[in-house]
Amino acid sequence: MQRDLLDALRCPGTHEESWLVAMVLEANGPTLLVAELACPVCGAAFRIDDGVAYFADLAPIARHPPAWPTEPYTSDMVLRLAALLGVAESRFPVGLVGHHAAASGVLASFVSAPQLLINSGPAIPGPGVSRIAVAERLPLGVETLAAIAVDAAHATSLFLESAARALRLGGHLVAPADAPVPAGMRVLARDATEWVAETTTRASGLVELRRRAPDAIG
Ligand SMILES: [Zn+2]
Repeated sequence: MQRDLLDALRCPGTHEESWLVAMVLEANGPTLLVAELACPVCGAAFRIDDGVAYFADLAPIARHPPAWPTEPYTSDMVLRLAALLGVAESRFPVGLVGHHAAASGVLASFVSAPQLLINSGPAIPGPGVSRIAVAERLPLGVETLAAIAVDAAHATSLFLESAARALRLGGHLVAPADAPVPAGMRVLARDATEWVAETTTRASGLVELRRRAPDAIG
């Protein structure tokens, strides 16, 4: 995982958005290989191991290659994906979830933004590519992603809402045709296999705090 990505990571716990405190144990230049991450709010602990940040216990799966469905990604498919993502350059990362991570290597020749591979299985990422393993939602802060492509295995409403929240204003979300479109997103194009939508409202890190207000009054 790239050190720059630390700024984007948040505790996935259901409390107000919180950065994670990192203790780096092993690094190779900008790449973090082993580190401990801790949430100062709820005390949850996470680990970077072999360069992968684990927010879910996917380590046993990641060690066994056949566990992940891999679809061959032709260069035509990658070109199409690059067009749907709508980002050529950005200092913010482009997220590739599940089987979309298979596009990583070829996509790098069309999209110079850093890549964040999410639940990507055992593929060895190229230079500057980060990998994280997550459960039902993305552990990312608001407006930390340039664009993201989510595969069918991850296209739940909770996951897509967390993806929409992490996108910058105008950022594109690519998802399967039958996936629910998160609130605050406008569909730009849709075909039989997928849709692409853009964020039209600025997400707030304080949403969950506001939702809690009635409890505090009561
Ligand atoms: Zn926490």
